Amino acid sequence: MATEPAIDIRGLRKSYGSLEAVRGIDLRVERGEVFSLLGPNGAGKTTTVEILEGHRSRSAGEVSVLGHDPGRNDPALKRQVGIVLQQTGVDLYLTVREVVEMIAGYYPAPRDVDEVIGLAGLTEQRDQRVKKLSGGQRRRVDLAVALAGDPELLFLDEPTTGFDPSARRQAWETVRGLTALGKTIFLTTHFMDEAQALADRLAIIADGVIVAAGTASELIGASSTTSRIRFRLPDGSRPPDDSGARADGAWWEIETDAPTRAVHDLTGWALESGTTLIDLEITRRSLEDVYLQLTADAEATE
Ligand code: ATP
Repeated sequence: MATEPAIDIRGLRKSYGSLEAVRGIDLRVERGEVFSLLGPNGAGKTTTVEILEGHRSRSAGEVSVLGHDPGRNDPALKRQVGIVLQQTGVDLYLTVREVVEMIAGYYPAPRDVDEVIGLAGLTEQRDQRVKKLSGGQRRRVDLAVALAGDPELLFLDEPTTGFDPSARRQAWETVRGLTALGKTIFLTTHFMDEAQALADRLAIIADGVIVAAGTASELIGASSTTSRIRFRLPDGSRPPDDSGARADGAWWEIETDAPTRAVHDLTGWALESGTTLIDLEITRRSLEDVYLQLTADAEATE
């Protein structure tokens, strides 16, 4: 069915003995979407993802992945899902092409081997042994392995950890290439810029509960203060008390949900008093700011 979501989670719970790691979560990932699950260490991300992948059992709730219950270990589902774990083992003595060819051989309708190698950004390395590749290039082999069977749905677990900045950008391009092919991607990452750059929608999990879900803009817009004004002042100057500015080292900072008014008041004061606002900048709150606030709030209410 065209409208059936790629992933549908309702009331999911998972306990390890007396510890309830996932405490009733609901999530829906549409087909063709890049969805990112974010959360601090121990929040329940791996538990959730491994339940979706069929690698862990659940304690309660309903889970559907491409219309299948992943708890049933249905081979038809396994053929449609690709997984890039944080660490995988491929035979280091095989070449990139041999690895991808071997994996493709397990699938009934694999994607063309050279195309997979190209998608993973390994065309130049295709005849090199995996052993000779750098750490970042080996991660790309993991991606190629996950793509070999031409999956509908791809789980990417911290796919760019250990990448240099240009390799990260290349990996982002790869992910975008996959979405252009209509694939659904479930991404866990600790990099907020990565989630912001790639995800159509994201959810933040803290202490086993979803504390926010939506597009990055929705999450940023939903926070009470959406903009930050920063500036420095010449020695001996202070901003007016009613500006709401707080000192942050050599900087002054104003957080506001009405930046037009705040900038108007601040620059009006500066012009009137002949004070220079050094390095004045106005930034929208970032996803990282929202994330830090939400996860800190969740910790405080525990
Ligand atoms: P990280 O970002 O560090 O990978 P995470 O969000 O993936 O963290 P999980 O690995 O899902 O977190 O762990 C959630 C909670 O469940 C943690 O408190 C963890 O200690 C606990 N936990 C995870 N796996 C097990 C297990 N097999 N047995 C017992 N407790 C577990």
